[in-house]
Amino acid sequence: MFRDRLCRRRRLIPASADRFAAARMAVGNTFGIEYCVANEPRRPRGSHTIGRLVGVAMADTRSATINNPLKKLYIETVGCQMNMLDSELVVAALRKRGYTLVNTPRDADAILFNTCSVRQHAEDKIYSALGRLKHAKTHHPHKVIGVLGCMAQNHQKQIFERAPFVDLVVGPGQLHQVPDLIEQVAKDRQPRLEVSLDRKAGTRNQVASSFESYDPLRDPEMRPTPYQAFVRIMIGCDKFCTYCIVPKVRGPEQSRSPEQILAEARQLAAEGCREITLLGQTVNSYRHRDGERTTRFSDLLAMLHDVEGIDRIKFVTNYPKDMTQDVLEAVRDLPKICRYLHVPAQSGSNRILERMKRLYTVEEYREMMARIRETVPDCAVTSDFIVGFCGETEEDFEQTVRLVEECRFKNSFIFKYSPREGTKGYELYTDDVPEEVKKRRNNDLLAIQNRISEEDNQPFIGREVEILIEGPSKRAAKQQSPQPAPVSPVADSSLPIVGQASTGQDNGACGSDCGCDDTGHDHEHGQLIQLTGRTMCDRIAVFDGNPRLIGQIMPVRIYDANAFTLFGVVVTQHAGPEVYSLSLS
Ligand code: SF4
Repeated sequence: MFRDRLCRRRRLIPASADRFAAARMAVGNTFGIEYCVANEPRRPRGSHTIGRLVGVAMADTRSATINNPLKKLYIETVGCQMNMLDSELVVAALRKRGYTLVNTPRDADAILFNTCSVRQHAEDKIYSALGRLKHAKTHHPHKVIGVLGCMAQNHQKQIFERAPFVDLVVGPGQLHQVPDLIEQVAKDRQPRLEVSLDRKAGTRNQVASSFESYDPLRDPEMRPTPYQAFVRIMIGCDKFCTYCIVPKVRGPEQSRSPEQILAEARQLAAEGCREITLLGQTVNSYRHRDGERTTRFSDLLAMLHDVEGIDRIKFVTNYPKDMTQDVLEAVRDLPKICRYLHVPAQSGSNRILERMKRLYTVEEYREMMARIRETVPDCAVTSDFIVGFCGETEEDFEQTVRLVEECRFKNSFIFKYSPREGTKGYELYTDDVPEEVKKRRNNDLLAIQNRISEEDNQPFIGREVEILIEGPSKRAAKQQSPQPAPVSPVADSSLPIVGQASTGQDNGACGSDCGCDDTGHDHEHGQLIQLTGRTMCDRIAVFDGNPRLIGQIMPVRIYDANAFTLFGVVVTQHAGPEVYSLSLS
């Protein structure tokens, strides 16, 4: 009923972009929800970052004490890098209002879930998490509970139906409103629903303008590391693959202006960021038009390459059909561009690719791979595959296996097909591949990919690679001791241990691999821990080192490798003391 009334109201609005941009429709309904269809005027854009953001306490609470009675925020993020970035930005905005992050919903005044709709499982997880909060909300009605992001845009009022104690449902195009909305809810206890227009609810421009790219000024304290950051260069997608919900929940494809992106990159560099990852659903489809001037993705890469202080540039996710030669040549010719391309193939069968509406054939994908190998021979390529898509036969699956064997991806992300309501595939096809068949194909393909990954990592043994050191390895991070973890020759506990690691004692004159050449000083650097970082071709390496190395780009010599990890030792460039001759005049 709510939806019907909303649609009727929408049809009453004159089809003018201005009216849509300004429209804020308050619709009375059984939930007492204020429903706002479109955005307020655009706000200044800047940029973003974060992943699973829980548990970092922050200061700067003065503004909150003035106008906001809420102080503690818990936020949980599910999904892709776009969501991680959105969460970072929401947290940064709330932090400016004086919030601090806490580790559990129990301690929080505002509890936010930034959600994903790509798979059923991700949505189920959020509903379960909401269910666990019902009791808390009954006993602590002042807590504001919000669902943000793709699932909010996708489910809208359904979320209030399934979890009536939720206060906020905010789509990815309205995230800039979250701080104000929390304050409003805290005042009047009225739930709010803020989402963008449905794709068919207006002209392309009207719908596009209702999806705001949320790119406020960067806040380095809100990133997991200050030397790595995501930079959104596009939002939305117009490809409409039949299995995918993204075009519905993230809206039409829009490229940000190169000036905004450059300004953001320069700001990040000034804050000490060394690596940026450009984000877009189909990042290599980037194209910005401004009057007569068109900026292609390769042009943007060249511009960003000139930003002083930025040492590495990555980009995800690529669309095979848009992997043009100028992009590959930019990767080849610009040394700061990482030799790493994530180009999802999804299937090796033309019949399935057509059903998925991927708009390329497997022959075209092979041709693209050949161009990558020829133009950038040292480039690592990764892929995504969906197994068990509607109507996939054993022969279709065998063709996918053949493609994986032939392309020798660095790694592949393999998913079992999960039908999503709201997609074309859901309407058109029956989900007819039994779950056990999907599981078997998933496991078989994974085993093949892992074998290839391990084989392809072997040639790195004995080589020296440049690693941007990201932080403690998972294993070291798990150590709860207040003291740094002891030197250990082992890699992540989840990984097979092969070979022998250095204790670090042979590296560097001071007996550690801190890069210090002082042989006699009292080491304030502490003990070595297991660190992790990535090569220019996105391979993960672990090695022992001093935490002081985090954020640096260091040479690491690889002594062993498995399918997932390179094992190495930091190579310290120890230049001996300079010799000066004194000349007596
Ligand atoms: S290209 Fe296809 S899979 Fe990727 S976001 Fe767009 S519709 Fe989804």
